[in-house]
Amino acid sequence: MHNTFAIDLGTTYSCIAYLNEHGNPEVIRDNENDSNTVASVVFFENENNVIVGQAAKENIETDGDRVVQFVKREIGKRESRTYEFDGKTYTPVEISALILTRLKNLVEAQGGTIDDVVITVPAYFGLEERSATRQAGELAGLHVLSLINEPTAAALSYCARQFQEDRTILVYDLGGGTFDVTVVKMSMAQNDAGRDVQKITVLATGGDDRLGGKDWDDRLYNYILHACCDENGLTPDEVEAETRQDIRGKVEEAKRKLSKKQSTKVRIDVNGSRTEITIKRSDFEQMTSDIVAKTMNFVDATLEKVPAESIDTVLLVGGSTYMPMIINAVEAKFPGKVQQHDPDQAVAKGAAIYASMLVEEVGSPSAQDGEISSDENNHAEQLTSKFTVEDQTPRSFGPGVVDMNGSKQKYVLENFIKIGEKMPAVFSKTYYPLEDNQELVRLRAFENMSTDDTLIPCVDEDGNPQATDPAHNVKLLGELVVNLPPGTSRDTPIKVTFKVDASGVHVEAVNTKTNETFETFLRTESDIDVERSAVHQLRISSE
Ligand code: ADP
Ligand code: MG
Repeated sequence: MHNTFAIDLGTTYSCIAYLNEHGNPEVIRDNENDSNTVASVVFFENENNVIVGQAAKENIETDGDRVVQFVKREIGKRESRTYEFDGKTYTPVEISALILTRLKNLVEAQGGTIDDVVITVPAYFGLEERSATRQAGELAGLHVLSLINEPTAAALSYCARQFQEDRTILVYDLGGGTFDVTVVKMSMAQNDAGRDVQKITVLATGGDDRLGGKDWDDRLYNYILHACCDENGLTPDEVEAETRQDIRGKVEEAKRKLSKKQSTKVRIDVNGSRTEITIKRSDFEQMTSDIVAKTMNFVDATLEKVPAESIDTVLLVGGSTYMPMIINAVEAKFPGKVQQHDPDQAVAKGAAIYASMLVEEVGSPSAQDGEISSDENNHAEQLTSKFTVEDQTPRSFGPGVVDMNGSKQKYVLENFIKIGEKMPAVFSKTYYPLEDNQELVRLRAFENMSTDDTLIPCVDEDGNPQATDPAHNVKLLGELVVNLPPGTSRDTPIKVTFKVDASGVHVEAVNTKTNETFETFLRTESDIDVERSAVHQLRISSE
């Protein structure tokens, strides 16, 4: 038996799941604090003790400078920050690896072993964020089978319980620190074995990576602080630090209680005097109605890309969708279409279904062409043989080449593969050396968020950084050095191919005169030393 797990590595909470012996996705609970999720928080208590999870979260108020949270916002960023504790420096990848290790230990503490994992990532993650996430997994000693987009995983877990053809699903994922809207389409397709399977395609993404449950916490904190002041005749400035910590520590729990009850009480020690504050759900809803509206504006913006009428189902995902105000707001916009099941576990559970799909493909080829067994214990096989996941490219990709047309030659980026194309995506084009007897070509590969065919890339002919539309987010991924034999003429066709799949960009260049092939696999810029010079380029045919 293969031990395959799926990890939802969240901004504020993470979750690990697997398919149990009945083929149903199940989350491994954290018995220490009786919870389905582990807080993505790391507390560096001292040189010898690093704590991850709820216990770490409890130190935010008292020891904030030794606590790291929201590291997912930093992972894979070009100029990502590092963290220093007790003379050691930690990268976001290393911090994430500590969280993943905690999840791995959860499995092992309950007598399990982990062979392979699938880790979930936001649909909008670029190549570097994806590669850094994978690295974090490997650093935690996990074999990372694959990554899967979070909304795709959530849709998988929904469709596994309610199998329906041709559905367009809007995934509304409101977590602790991020809000993601994604539209996915489920359709029927045939897999390689000729069997009908459900295909999941991402159609559109939107949202805000600085909007989440924490905003509700902040409002509630302010409300309680002011109520404490009123009760004790104080101004906010007169409230002691300990009192503020006390409030901070109680806010999230009060918020969760308000999802179930119409009102809740918190007891706060206000500068030494015990004070009881009652919070009504209706007041909480009033003080946060603008943030709810803000999420709905992002939904509207996403619906500019996909018509609202085409949405069949709206799936509520993320712990913050437990709040009745969210369910009500979404229900008002999409009457009768809203679904919510285990919103804090749906992503991990869907990824667990996906993970076992992959293992089946790799592990037992017979599972693909055999009849679906009716044996109840083979529910897992039934589930996993029903789906195939089709992801989109998270960015546009292409080489930097010289355009000789016009009065002045320009160094341009030709987008081979555009953001949103189905993966794996492949494109080839033939170029030529810039001049006769050119010894080599430095073929640069770029990532960007534009859908234009041609872009001015981030370095000019002299290799200097050049201003581009920041919204295009042009990034140099790396370069492939193509050696040319002596005497190569400038008419030698060089065929350049880009292939993008979930794990990275494969760049290939073939000298079609000699059939010599050069190739590289790019994940991040750091993989390759890039020489920023203008010489040794390829040109677009000027015919
Ligand atoms: P992530 O954003 O890391 O993916 P989750 O989807 O688990 O994490 O969402 C975490 C957020 O959900 C936190 O802000 C948490 O306070 C909130 N949350 C969890 N349960 C509830 C609940 N019952 N009521 C209101 N908010 C909740
Ligand atoms: Mg999440």
